[in-house]
Amino acid sequence: MSIESEIDTTSGRAERVAIIGAGLAGLTCARELSLQGHDVHLFEKRETVSGRMARIRMQPDRGAKQAAESVWFDHGAQYFTARSVEFSQQVHDWENRGVVQQWLGPFVKLTNGVCEPPPGNDVRYVGVPGMDAICSDLLQQICKVRSCKAENPNAASRAAKITFCANVLPLQRVAQRWQVRYENTQSGVTAQPAELFDWVVLALPSPIAQSLLPGDSPLIQQIVPFKLGPCLAVMMAFDRSLSLPFGGAFVQNSLLRWISNNSSMPQRKKTPECWILHPSSEWSAEHWNASEAAIIGQVHAAFEKAIAMVLPEPRYQALFRWENALPLQPAASGCFSDLHQRVIIAGDWCTDARVEGAFLSGLQAARRLSEEVMKQ
Ligand SMILES: Cc1cc2nc3c(=O)[nH]c(=O)nc-3n(C[C@H](O)[C@H](O)[C@H](O)COP(=O)(O)OP(=O)(O)OC[C@H]3O[C@@H](n4cnc5c(N)ncnc54)[C@H](O)[C@@H]3O)c2cc1C
Repeated sequence: MSIESEIDTTSGRAERVAIIGAGLAGLTCARELSLQGHDVHLFEKRETVSGRMARIRMQPDRGAKQAAESVWFDHGAQYFTARSVEFSQQVHDWENRGVVQQWLGPFVKLTNGVCEPPPGNDVRYVGVPGMDAICSDLLQQICKVRSCKAENPNAASRAAKITFCANVLPLQRVAQRWQVRYENTQSGVTAQPAELFDWVVLALPSPIAQSLLPGDSPLIQQIVPFKLGPCLAVMMAFDRSLSLPFGGAFVQNSLLRWISNNSSMPQRKKTPECWILHPSSEWSAEHWNASEAAIIGQVHAAFEKAIAMVLPEPRYQALFRWENALPLQPAASGCFSDLHQRVIIAGDWCTDARVEGAFLSGLQAARRLSEEVMKQ
């Protein structure tokens, strides 16, 4: 799927659109709208794109020799599958361009050291060299859109803008348009772009979207039921391989839900061997306020029990707290919209609690907006 072939010059007038959140849903929406010629400005709280598909760089802290080495962990989304036609086409394109690769695992269902075949026979993909590759690719495409225009003067596409470190504050209506204000997460200074926006797309977990909507928005009632559960992600790196017969395991009879050998994913460093351990949402919620040492201690014990093996001392271990990690009961609506006030809400929780759901929701949000613009 090339950018040029997607350019739609038939859409109506160009709208100014603010998209809050540069995870997969926000970036997918931004790409579609930019290709249709809308004037898109993304605002992202962090210093980079990817949201829950991010990876994290950790510095082992034992010994001067090791201090220079850093290890990467894919501590959020672990892999993705493609079931719909649209996402399958996108994944095919990413695979052809070396953005994603199949992860062969192997995958198992694991009960106290006993491995069984996993449920289903999904093909599982990961971004390479990290999960964030997908969102970085979309960002690059969005930035390239302007150069497409130069090559093809008839094309209506335009490049999107993105502001990082922008923690967006509750939205304000000004002269029938939207004012976006944000706190710069590095300087703490509150800022706002000079322009007002015709539309706002909130590509965010539902509790955050709720907190940004004006109190009288009819969307608040609609999205309140769609909560996301937390996930306490523990990362461990070992100097020698644990030599376990799987790359990813769905853990049974345990506080752990999932464990994976991050180093078994394609294009990752093999040493140190990096492991990701995800407890269940319920356990994460119950232990959310516990100390890092207490959480790591319990997860470490559960890991040993799950693999029926005493672990060597990890070279490195750390905890990451994902607050709005996994939708508990996703909506089936694709996205939510208030076409009167021109707000659209997108995110995995609108469609499906997965990477594919975030992509489809971003696409759906862009389509709803452009359909509405075409009617005007
Ligand atoms: C631990 C974990 C494991 C997972 N495992 C899998 C898996 O194996 N397979 C799978 O398919 N899916 C998995 N998922 C789910 C997958 O990661 C999500 O479905 C997908 O990444 C959601 O994308 P999104 O764009 O909807 O939301 P997000 O990725 O959450 O994007 C929202 C963005 O908004 C930004 N933001 C938040 N507040 C503000 C603000 N006020 N102002 C500006 N920006 C803001 C955030 O920084 C973020 O970048 C997992 C998720 C987690 C956390």
